Amino acid sequence: MTELESIKNRVVVVGAGAVGACCAAYLQRDGNDVTIFDPDGFGRGCSEGTVGIFATNIIAPASSADGVRAMLAAARNPDLDTLMINKEFLPEFLPWLASFVATSGPLAFARGNEALKEAQRLSMPALREILDEDTFAENMQERGWIAVYETEENFQAAEADRKMRRKHGVALKELDAQQLREIEPSLPDGLQFATLYPNEFHTANVHKLVSAIGEVALRNGATLKEQLVDSIEPQKDGTFRVRAGGEEVIADKVVIAAGAYSAKFAEELGSPVLHCAERGYGVTFEGADVGLNSPVTLTKHRCVIAPMEAGFHVISSGEFAPIDTLPDERHQERLIAIALEMYPELAGRNVTRWSGWRSTMPDGLPVIDESPVHKGVFYAFGHSHLGLTQAGITGAVISALASGRKPAMDNTPFKVDRFSLTPAY
Ligand SMILES: Cc1cc2nc3c(=O)[nH]c(=O)nc-3n(C[C@H](O)[C@H](O)[C@H](O)COP(=O)(O)OP(=O)(O)OC[C@H]3O[C@@H](n4cnc5c(N)ncnc54)[C@H](O)[C@@H]3O)c2cc1C
Repeated sequence: MTELESIKNRVVVVGAGAVGACCAAYLQRDGNDVTIFDPDGFGRGCSEGTVGIFATNIIAPASSADGVRAMLAAARNPDLDTLMINKEFLPEFLPWLASFVATSGPLAFARGNEALKEAQRLSMPALREILDEDTFAENMQERGWIAVYETEENFQAAEADRKMRRKHGVALKELDAQQLREIEPSLPDGLQFATLYPNEFHTANVHKLVSAIGEVALRNGATLKEQLVDSIEPQKDGTFRVRAGGEEVIADKVVIAAGAYSAKFAEELGSPVLHCAERGYGVTFEGADVGLNSPVTLTKHRCVIAPMEAGFHVISSGEFAPIDTLPDERHQERLIAIALEMYPELAGRNVTRWSGWRSTMPDGLPVIDESPVHKGVFYAFGHSHLGLTQAGITGAVISALASGRKPAMDNTPFKVDRFSLTPAY
């Protein structure tokens, strides 16, 4: 060790993705002395590869009846698909899968629905609370989000989902081909129907946004150390020895916000979780602007296209696999082919390929909780497909819990120990 630094009354945040940055910003604002560790700095990790959608209209957990059907089909399917389970990993994955199926039961699913709805409702206000108006306006645009359908049959098949969202107060508008063309003239012909979610915010540069959130923490006195945390050791006096890159610090509280890498720390700290890494893939046609105004989900291809500052971005896939599995480039080739079919003018552009690990719990809800084993250890991970969206409310709740205040959102559905094989709440 090169340095032994005592930081009594300080909080260490492990991870500076969207979630870690928001936790740090809230904790520092609330009077803590925060040190953030991340070898890549702010806004890299999985956060960097998102399509930048603040997807508050998603209020149903993935473990719906349709979700279960798709997951069980993926478990049997040997071919490349947008939803995949690494077959060698299947035996190890079974407890997760069993819990996923268990949470699709009517009672558990309804509870998950309510919990997700509340997290989504509070997500944008919580983000606005830590960013000043100018920074928010500079980084966030209320562009809406569109899901497009090739056939009336597919559009009608999604009616039950629209009905559920309407029932819960989600703003949406059904569009025919003409209305869609007026809003998104760049989309190719043949798209017959669409659903517009008009109130969704979008950021065209996720790294810049998360860095701006991290900057709030730094301006208020937090420190960023670009090092990987190797271990967190609880001490007899209730503090924690955090070892990182040959350095060590003593902290009173530790927040684990390391995305898909959080489960390792939870296990070492006595709270093993039924968590799985879920890989997503993306490609960016560098500098390309095809004239798209908002993010668009192509329901047939199960992928999302979006106009980003870096270029035209296409993302897809949920690949459940051990976290050290190498990426399968065929996913990116598929995305490139879809993009070129839609927009032939993209041919010849440089393409950046990306893949990253989501952190996914069987019920699709994040873990936002204090450890039941070690007082002073807080968990903020498991946000799956919605970590950018829910980063703000996660930071707000973690900071309230760490300060002994009642959080703005009841964290009972987000407990770290909610899974044995069925949810405990
Ligand atoms: C293709 C794709 C598109 C997506 N699009 C959206 C979207 O539009 N909207 C949305 O809401 N969500 C989206 N998501 C989900 C979202 O990306 C994640 O939920 C979110 O990034 C999770 O943020 P995080 O901060 O928890 O994790 P991450 O962003 O992964 O950050 C974790 C950080 O922890 C660091 N770390 C890991 N181990 C250590 C260690 N030992 N010491 C120190 N640091 C460590 C890593 O370097 C990393 O920077 C998408 C995901 C994918 C894959």
